[in-house]
Amino acid sequence: MGLLVVGSVAFDSVKTPFGQAQDVLGGSATYFSVAAGFFTDVSLVAVVGEDFPQEHLRFLESRKIDLSGLERVPGKTFRWKGEYGFQLNEAKTLETQLNVFQAFRPKLPAGCRGREVVFLANIDPVLQREVLKQVEKPKLVACDTMNYWIEGRRSELLETLKLVDILIINDGEARELSREVNLVKAAGRIRAMGPKTVIVKRGEYGALLFADGEIFHAPAYPLEFVFDPTGAGDSFAGGFMGYLAKTMDFGPRNIRKAIIFGSVLASFNVEDFSLNRFKKLRWDEIKERYREFRKLTHFEDLSED
Ligand code: AMP
Repeated sequence: MGLLVVGSVAFDSVKTPFGQAQDVLGGSATYFSVAAGFFTDVSLVAVVGEDFPQEHLRFLESRKIDLSGLERVPGKTFRWKGEYGFQLNEAKTLETQLNVFQAFRPKLPAGCRGREVVFLANIDPVLQREVLKQVEKPKLVACDTMNYWIEGRRSELLETLKLVDILIINDGEARELSREVNLVKAAGRIRAMGPKTVIVKRGEYGALLFADGEIFHAPAYPLEFVFDPTGAGDSFAGGFMGYLAKTMDFGPRNIRKAIIFGSVLASFNVEDFSLNRFKKLRWDEIKERYREFRKLTHFEDLSED
């Protein structure tokens, strides 16, 4: 049981139309772990440098995230710098410093190898595969990626995708990966690359699921204040995979519930910079927003008259 994630743990510097934050805690695996931690145990596999403060480690430990696979090595932690315009859906990457990730060769601690649900968060597809190969018998493998890897490591990414059940990707990246503008066609092409289920995240327009003979759409929660979209995608994936790992039911009805939990976690995360909103988030708020999602999309069937 339990969930394993490999991805980035980072210092982010982010500018939005509403403010900025410098060298704050971020990273795909960080957002994912904290979001998924609301549902189940999470083991985090990543690397940080000597500059990574105890305060952040203590925060992750306080969320009962297993850090036995988080290496600390000489050098600098991964850094990402991004900016958002008023169109908050897409980050403009200003700088990516891989730093300690450049020489990282993950070695899974024995206690993590039996994890049944695995998330390959956004990081070098070679690392994603190295981690996956060390997991004994995964029952569900999902993956994320971004333009940085689609453009720089395409053939490696295609190898990783062959081993994946679910790809969670944003719309621009789905188009870039599939080389197809239409999202329905794009999802079809991606499904032929390996993942039989594709979830396309569309920022404030919600998320679309494409699976065998099935399309499902979840809206995004209509928030009055969106402060910083960084980590929305990883928080979505964390809520989604956390719920699936907790219930171990990967059937279509449960996948729909998981998509709503993913949307709920993403909607909270964007209310503040870094992981600040998650630090105060309570389980009863998550349940409440899940119910609001239900109301938001419920409508009556056609009557006979
Ligand atoms: P998102 O959920 O898509 O907003 O992801 C934002 C997070 O991804 C930030 O906290 C960054 O540290 C991290 N990130 C940005 N670029 C990369 C990359 N090339 N590889 C891994 N993680 C990244």
